[in-house]
Amino acid sequence: QLRNPNEEEFQQAVKEVLDSLVPVLVKNPIYIKQAVLERIIEPERLISFRVPWVNDNGNIKVNRGYRVQFNSAIGPYKGGLRFHPSVNTSIIKFLGFEQIFKNSLTGQPIGGGKGGSDFDPKGKSDMEIMRFCQSFMTELSRHIGPDIDVPAGDIGVGAREIGYMFGQYKKLKGAYEAGVLTGKGIGYGGSLIRKEATGYGLVYFVDEMLKAQGLSMNGSTVVVSGSGNVSIYAMEKAIQFGAKVVACSDSSGYVYDPNGINLDTVKRLKEVENKRMFEYVKEHPDAIYQEGCSGIWAVPCDIALPCATQNEINKEAAEMLVSNGVKAVGEGANMPSTQEAIDSFMDHHVLFAPAKAANAGGVAVSALEMAQNSARLAWTQEEVDRKLRDIMKDIYSKSMKASEDYDAPGNLVVGANIAGFVKVADAMIAQGVI
Ligand code: NDP
Repeated sequence: QLRNPNEEEFQQAVKEVLDSLVPVLVKNPIYIKQAVLERIIEPERLISFRVPWVNDNGNIKVNRGYRVQFNSAIGPYKGGLRFHPSVNTSIIKFLGFEQIFKNSLTGQPIGGGKGGSDFDPKGKSDMEIMRFCQSFMTELSRHIGPDIDVPAGDIGVGAREIGYMFGQYKKLKGAYEAGVLTGKGIGYGGSLIRKEATGYGLVYFVDEMLKAQGLSMNGSTVVVSGSGNVSIYAMEKAIQFGAKVVACSDSSGYVYDPNGINLDTVKRLKEVENKRMFEYVKEHPDAIYQEGCSGIWAVPCDIALPCATQNEINKEAAEMLVSNGVKAVGEGANMPSTQEAIDSFMDHHVLFAPAKAANAGGVAVSALEMAQNSARLAWTQEEVDRKLRDIMKDIYSKSMKASEDYDAPGNLVVGANIAGFVKVADAMIAQGVI
């Protein structure tokens, strides 16, 4: 806290991990002797830079860009870029810190990183987005590379932004280094299933968790917050698994559709027309739109999948979900539940799938995209989807096993933190004090 004042989100993420690691430290004092905790919570590098760009009216605007290169013990830094006005050092560091353990859990050789900008893409023209992305990459390019640091998308950064940044990187380097970014378009080095991977992976993970308790996604009622990349493909897979998704949201409000959310409408509104969720009710008269996004947690459901942003489920929202009989919560977003919300789920024996484990499918398929780029070939949709499913099953088993080995059976928060930590910590020790 002393070293990172005013970095609330970062402190929250660190505290959650450190709390779970106590039994590991007791069993393995080498981690204390080698100061692994002190080292792992300090980023290897934090870069902050100016991003000047010109808007459509010819005015010069200035935003701030960031990249945190947190830990490279098991591979090149890997993690998304977020463009949102709320982005600051604390947000980037919390995301980068979580990414270390998530990436380790995937079993792929990738370290932890994250980046972004306080740029707000809302209301910007396509040309403004392009000029911003080009300026952002002009600086970022000197810090990244296929064996150094490989960014991808996150909130506000999708295939369009990745395309503009990839084009600028290629121009600056004078070389076609396909593996420098992931989430690329399929026609120029992207991987099939990358777009779907975080949402699909989340549902694969939750399905494993339910099955272990003799429960099933089939026939369940599901609420998914957000209506972006993660939400849309979590809804798609949940529906394929026989669930009825009754609500989703954006940052202005949420839609409840008693007939089940029509995903074709959501995809068209969000992926094609760039419209707001309130437009949904114009086409589906039985559906209701409510201003404000937190009310979505009052909609009764069996399974809640928060897929929008950090701290979107607080204590009150968690208690509402519990009182309405929620059976399972799967975190698609990063750190969407506050600590008090997690405590409430645990106290009421709600099955809880933490983000680090449950949303790791996106970065896992990003690592598969890097592998395809290195090999200069492209796998089929079925092949990538099968690998994704296997990886999510493996993360579930690893996290469960660690929870059992360290006397917290079934606690996936503890299990995921420990399983992710041990591999990185051992690699740090093996590589000496650097
Ligand atoms: P998108 O930008 O595609 O979608 C974000 C969605 O969440 C939108 O519906 C957006 O609404 C809503 N949202 C964003 N900020 C807020 C806010 N402050 N309050 C309420 N709603 C908000 O992002 P992604 O789907 O890619 O990311 C969603 C979450 O998943 C993030 O936490 C991200 O870190 C995490 N994640 C993403 C991965 C990926 O592969 N994309 C991988 C792993 C985790 P609006 O359109 O109104 O802004």
